[in-house]
Amino acid sequence: DCKKKKIEDYVRSIPDFPQEGIIFRDVTSILEDADGFALAVDSMQKLLEGVDVDVIVGTESRGFIFGAPIAYNLHKPLVLVRKKGKLPCETVEQSYDLEYGSAVIEMHKDSIKPGQKVVIVDDLIATGGTVEAAAKLIEGLGGEVVKLVFLMELAGLKGREKLEKYDVQSVICYE
Ligand code: 5GP
Repeated sequence: DCKKKKIEDYVRSIPDFPQEGIIFRDVTSILEDADGFALAVDSMQKLLEGVDVDVIVGTESRGFIFGAPIAYNLHKPLVLVRKKGKLPCETVEQSYDLEYGSAVIEMHKDSIKPGQKVVIVDDLIATGGTVEAAAKLIEGLGGEVVKLVFLMELAGLKGREKLEKYDVQSVICYE
C-alpha cells in the first residue's frame, strides 16, 4: 500500500534550530498525530522482537515518551535516566561532553540489579554521547546493555562509531 504513511512523513524538519546550520528533527509532529505516534511506538517495539530484556531505560526527556509505552506493552519495568538534580533517592551520576561544555545525568542506584538485561530507548541518536553515558551508568550498576533503540538516527554524526560495542538500531536514518 503505497499510500500508507511512513515515519518520515510525520517528522517536521526545522532548519537552523537550536542554532544555525542544524536541521532539527521535530518529534512533536509525530506525537500530535495518533497514527504517527502509534506507528513510531510499534516500529521501535518491533526492533525488540526476540530480544531477551528485563528492563527498559528511557533517557530524559523524549526517551520517556517512547520508553513508557514500550515498557508497558512488554510488561517490563521502566527506569528513568534523568538530568542531574531531579531524582529523589540515592543516585549514580555520569557526565558527558556536549558540543559546548558538558552535562550530567543520573539514575537511582537501586533501579538496576546486577545481571539484568537492559534496553535503552531514546527518540534520536546524534553523537551518541547521551546514551553512551546512560550505558555507563547501567554497566556501573552491573546491568548488561543488550540493545539501544532509537526512532531516528543522524548518521553523519557517527554515533554508531562511538557505540560500536553495542547493538544499535534505529527506525529511520538521516544522512
Ligand atoms: P547525542 O547525545 O546523541 O549527541 O544527542 C542525542 C540527544 O539530543 C537525544 O536525547 C535527542 O533527544 C536530542 N537531539 C539532538 N538532536 C536532535 C534532533 O534533531 N531532534 C530531536 N528530536 N532530538 C535531538
